Amino acid sequence: MKILVQKFGGSSVADLECMKKVRAKVLNEVAQGYKVVVVLSARAGQTNKLVEMAYQWSDEPNPAEYDALLATGEQESVALFSMLLSDAGVKARSFLGFQVPILTDNAYNTARIVSIEAGQFLQELKRFDVIVMAGFQGYSMENRITTLGRGGSDTSAVAIAAALGSELGQDVDCHIYTDVDGVYTTDPRMVPPAKKIDKISYDEMLEMASMGAKVLQIRSVEFAKKYKVPVWVRSTFTNDKGTLVTQEDESMMESVMVSGVAFDKDQVRITILGVPDQPGISASLFVPLSDHDILVDMIVQKASRDGITDMTYTVSHKDLKRALTYTEKVCKEIGAQGVEYDDQVAKVSVIGVGMRNHSGVAAMAFSALHKANINILMISTSEIKISCLIHADQLEKAVQTLHTTFGLDGE
Ligand code: ASP
Ligand code: MG
Repeated sequence: MKILVQKFGGSSVADLECMKKVRAKVLNEVAQGYKVVVVLSARAGQTNKLVEMAYQWSDEPNPAEYDALLATGEQESVALFSMLLSDAGVKARSFLGFQVPILTDNAYNTARIVSIEAGQFLQELKRFDVIVMAGFQGYSMENRITTLGRGGSDTSAVAIAAALGSELGQDVDCHIYTDVDGVYTTDPRMVPPAKKIDKISYDEMLEMASMGAKVLQIRSVEFAKKYKVPVWVRSTFTNDKGTLVTQEDESMMESVMVSGVAFDKDQVRITILGVPDQPGISASLFVPLSDHDILVDMIVQKASRDGITDMTYTVSHKDLKRALTYTEKVCKEIGAQGVEYDDQVAKVSVIGVGMRNHSGVAAMAFSALHKANINILMISTSEIKISCLIHADQLEKAVQTLHTTFGLDGE
């Protein structure tokens, strides 16, 4: 049995006209002999509307009921779309998360998939040409409806592809249709010569996704990586074949040093000045932050002089106030001199598995920024990424410079 998973986002199923375009895409695959699992998001704007409603009704919506409400957006989409398929003479039916069944943990609003029993689903797929499955939802161990976090339909699609693949013992491809035609070397709105990438590794995609290239939900990429699901990102509105997100191979490492330039405007730099340089100081600062779920991104400790140093770290804007509160408290406790912050900063990163094979990428990036007269405030590196914190007003110039330096500009 040839199976394909096709996922369509909210803008692709916004109204009847859009849904008819989607139907044509699905019928194409049915004509090729595929049994198709169509995973749908709520129609554009619908989830936001439901969120608003929840807060009109309640100051603090009950988490389980909140999920039961949000999940209706997808229920609407799959029912409507299944009707359209039936009208076209296709044997189709809808499936909600609990009917699949997609079991999750009990973390309402951001539930994680625990298991999918695909056996029964597979039997149904033998009887139908197309199954239209609601994205974004599952059910908890307490037998309540859960949702998988915003953008979660991507994860639903990858997860059902993984489950069917393992049930059948073969790869099941997952096509994620959206309103862009693939993953780009950087945001084309900032750098018009940005190019579409044909093939990218899971790890690169994770770095791109976590830094503002918001094409796929990060969890879906983690899932795809874990279960080796080939994921295609393509546009509903063109016939381009899109970008393949897949396992890293030799050719990827050989061909280019850098695959993309990502950036993140959501950074604030906090510095704690005049810190005594002794064991336990980092722990006394970062343990309380982590205990309060404040995500720290970059960290730098200055070389110490006479046993005194400065510690600098970055967090997102939404955590600034809380981070300052805890940092000022620690500052007093350890006898540091004071706390400063700067919210006019941004992070630019070059990403590529090619860095594993090529040396000198960091030097090239720093020289390029120097030539463009851009001051680097902080640096962090990993095997496949070099990130620099810079002043926010120089971000665009930095992204453009690095994009050109690493040969990513298209015609
Ligand atoms: N409808 C949900 C959202 O808007 C899930 C999704 O679209 O993937 O976040
Ligand atoms: Mg999305």
